[in-house]
Amino acid sequence: LVSRKKKAEDTVITVKGVEFGGGSPILIAGPCSVESYEQVRAVAENHAKRGLRTLRGGAYKPRTSPYDFQGLGVEGLKILKRIGDEFNLVTISEIVTPADLELAAQYIDVIQIGARNMQNFELLKAAGRVNKPILLKRGLAATIEEFIYAAEYIVSKGNTQVMLCERGIRTYEKATRNTLDISAVPLLKQETHLPVFVDVTHSTGRRDLLLPCAKAGFAIGSDGVMVEVHPDPDVALSDAKQQLNIPQFNEFLDELLASGLYKG
Ligand code: PEP
Ligand code: MN
Repeated sequence: LVSRKKKAEDTVITVKGVEFGGGSPILIAGPCSVESYEQVRAVAENHAKRGLRTLRGGAYKPRTSPYDFQGLGVEGLKILKRIGDEFNLVTISEIVTPADLELAAQYIDVIQIGARNMQNFELLKAAGRVNKPILLKRGLAATIEEFIYAAEYIVSKGNTQVMLCERGIRTYEKATRNTLDISAVPLLKQETHLPVFVDVTHSTGRRDLLLPCAKAGFAIGSDGVMVEVHPDPDVALSDAKQQLNIPQFNEFLDELLASGLYKG
């Protein structure tokens, strides 16, 4: 169902007037985790000033260590709802349990399924039964074929509003957190009709590589780039090392606009 052979035209997903996959690539930005109303609001206020419409933020965090911050849960979703309404932003947040999908649909605009759950088939099937767009991230060690089959799980249950996100894969390379598989973008665009995004934060894990990788993402034909921004990354409860602060994010945005690769 997700194959280009089945449907030649690109899938375009429109939420609150924002087009995902509509031919004008977008930026999906926001903090790694929702930590407080004030923290998310600071980012959202800057989004509004800069004309950005899409806000990400994790409420359920799949952390490597059980002792790390696990997210605010439904409180975090409520914060996103309030701020999304206040600034007319499309909100994106990860859900990790089938049981939370219906509830989450009341608070957020796009449901993210994270890398660690790309092959959580019960979650995929349940996501196929909700009436909300799904942003599906590539698994840590998933092949393109496995990634496409994961999307097929969702669409096969009835939800056709699926978008894909390349977020780096595990390789032997240690200089970056993961290896950004940039070729996945044209490959997924050829093989499927779904919108394709590039997450530069989780793929590189390095602040100094965000801009060049974002440029590469736009240049290679992605439908947008995801990047993390936090008012004070040094005290962030997750991904402190690679999030941009707001002035750095504005500079990142200015550079992308100046490059002509991203039109705003
Ligand atoms: C995220 O986007 O918040 C996240 C945890 O990413 P990934 O699932 O790609 O690791
Ligand atoms: Mn993160």
